[in-house]
Amino acid sequence: MRVGIGTLVMRCLACQAEEWRATDASAPLALLSEVICLGCGAQSSCADLALQLPLVPEPAADAAE
Ligand SMILES: [Zn+2]
Repeated sequence: MRVGIGTLVMRCLACQAEEWRATDASAPLALLSEVICLGCGAQSSCADLALQLPLVPEPAADAAE
């Protein structure tokens, strides 16, 4: 699964993979959920991953002059 906020997708720090699985598949995914990278097996939390995301607002489609 992919984990993201809005259009931003969280990547693994180690291998840059975007696919994750929850350590507890029965629990709903939350900000503090632990996830495991499908690429390299690194474990992280959604909160840790969210901290790396650049807080860039989406460009408005009609912003160009
Ligand atoms: Zn990884």
